[in-house]
Amino acid sequence: NQVQQADVVIIGAGPSGAVAASLLVKKGWHVVVLEQQTFPRFSIGESLLPQCMSFLAEADLEQAVQAQAQSLGFQFKNGAAFQRRGDHTTIDFTEKFSEGPGTTFQVKRADFDKCLADGAMQQGAEIRYQHSVLAFTDCEDGALLDVTDENQQGYQIKGRFVLDASGFGRVLPRLLDLESASNFPVRWAFFSHFKDNISDPQFDREKILINVHPEHKDIWYWLIPFSDGTASIGVVGKPEQLEDKQPLAGLNEFIEQDSYLSGLLANREVIGEARAIKGYSANVSSLYGEHFALLGNAGEFLDPVFSSGVTIALKSASLVAPLVDSYLRGEQVDLKNDYSEPLQQGVNCFRTYVSAWYDGSFQDVIFYSEKNQQVREMISAILAGYAWDLQNPFVKQSNKRLNTLVELCRD
Ligand code: FAD
Repeated sequence: NQVQQADVVIIGAGPSGAVAASLLVKKGWHVVVLEQQTFPRFSIGESLLPQCMSFLAEADLEQAVQAQAQSLGFQFKNGAAFQRRGDHTTIDFTEKFSEGPGTTFQVKRADFDKCLADGAMQQGAEIRYQHSVLAFTDCEDGALLDVTDENQQGYQIKGRFVLDASGFGRVLPRLLDLESASNFPVRWAFFSHFKDNISDPQFDREKILINVHPEHKDIWYWLIPFSDGTASIGVVGKPEQLEDKQPLAGLNEFIEQDSYLSGLLANREVIGEARAIKGYSANVSSLYGEHFALLGNAGEFLDPVFSSGVTIALKSASLVAPLVDSYLRGEQVDLKNDYSEPLQQGVNCFRTYVSAWYDGSFQDVIFYSEKNQQVREMISAILAGYAWDLQNPFVKQSNKRLNTLVELCRD
């Protein structure tokens, strides 16, 4: 069989793959996206950050998302709420240090990912569903992929450049032995969708609720309301805290251990399957090679606590697309200096806050009531996804600034 050709082959049609595809077809390249599933399909990662909206706008996908938000009812989101042992606090993303959108959506990813993939296809990307990538061979002038199609027939396609946007599939990290250990401990998550039946008038459906376990500060829950009266609810803990439990029974057991949550969700009804993800943090030894780059979760995944996953995925697409365009036009590109390092800078900022969440120090900052307004807005900007804004001192010197703030809050 003849080897097929494309300028860019993208593995995976999730958010990073769809946005990268849009950005590259807009530059006039022939882009083929290989997606092993059919859409719509379930994915975890339902609470977006406002910074995402800028990347969607850059890819001309924001209007499609806004239109779907109207027709499918994506839940408007303007911040995050936190609860710990009866203490409540909120962060309003519209009050933030960095420029850019201050609101976004909570989305069922089946609908959201299909909306982005359809948008990329309308712009000219060729998306092949039920096509799985099995092997990668580097060549002098690109990379050759072995693929099976929807009829289990094998074929080969060569891309002048390949983007791995395969998320937790981690296609190139596995095939090219790029996997490296995450510096976060293994954590598990149990989650499901519920008809939440929340009647508390104080409850704000426009915010994600991040709830700390009353006794174990490293166990937390998410409650992501959708606009149709349903919600995504999950709990995260270490394996030894979750391992003898089934996902639904374990999730319900943890909800009952927190008096605020158990009251709020007293009339919940589970809908759909309860699932477990065991060990989600992942890293790689390199985010790029001569003819490939890794996007989103196919590179590093930190932790779900601040809902940074899709934002990092879209940022990776936004950073890499102009470099791939230059490369295809025959220019020299420096993926280390212009892709990997700038991406890492924001990822490392999130890393600081995630680490400090689990050791409890950032929790003390979040629940400290006397925060200065300017500091509050700098923290709000990071939690809204603006982790690449070097004008923000809490981004630029994230460790140092956060440590000082923790000391102030603990005095
Ligand atoms: P994905 O969305 O995973 O898309 C990858 C695509 O590649 C899939 O469609 C897959 O079918 C396809 N694929 C895989 N292997 C192959 C193959 N061999 N051939 C072809 N196609 C393939 N993020 C948030 O922003 N907000 C949240 O609230 C949030 N909550 C989370 C909760 C948990 C418990 C976890 C674990 C993660 C959470 N995340 C969250 C992270 C979020 O799920 C991911 O960061 C995001 O989906 C990454 O997008 P992506 O485009 O990199 O990959």
